Amino acid sequence: MENNSAKDFECPVCSLKKWLIEVLGLKEAPPKTTERFHEELGKALKGRGLAPPNFKLFLQFKQGVVSLPPQVEARVPIGAEVPAYAYATDICTGCGTIYAVMIQRATAKKEAGRPKVDIATLKIPGMGNNPQFS
Ligand SMILES: [Zn+2]
Repeated sequence: MENNSAKDFECPVCSLKKWLIEVLGLKEAPPKTTERFHEELGKALKGRGLAPPNFKLFLQFKQGVVSLPPQVEARVPIGAEVPAYAYATDICTGCGTIYAVMIQRATAKKEAGRPKVDIATLKIPGMGNNPQFS
């Protein structure tokens, strides 16, 4: 995966089941691969006007910089770029699988103190699990 790139995913279990149904020519209706529990709850909040239009809810949303051993981090000069990441997980409503909905790599510049992620460089869908809305 290249730096500053993001990938989105559908449910791996339901995608496999859908593929098998198509390949084997079964008459069973293929499952939906993008119906997610928290995402649907977030849509319900938006539908009631309780969350902003770009709001998205996840099971977990995490972002940060890659941890370095303290002795290594102390030698990294201010302004140097370090790897950063973001990911979001959710639960498939079709089969219950917990999976990564989105993963992203990015870079952060070390500032005085710990490296900080430049939020503007991350493709953050909505507001994640903002405790203000949970
Ligand atoms: Zn599924």
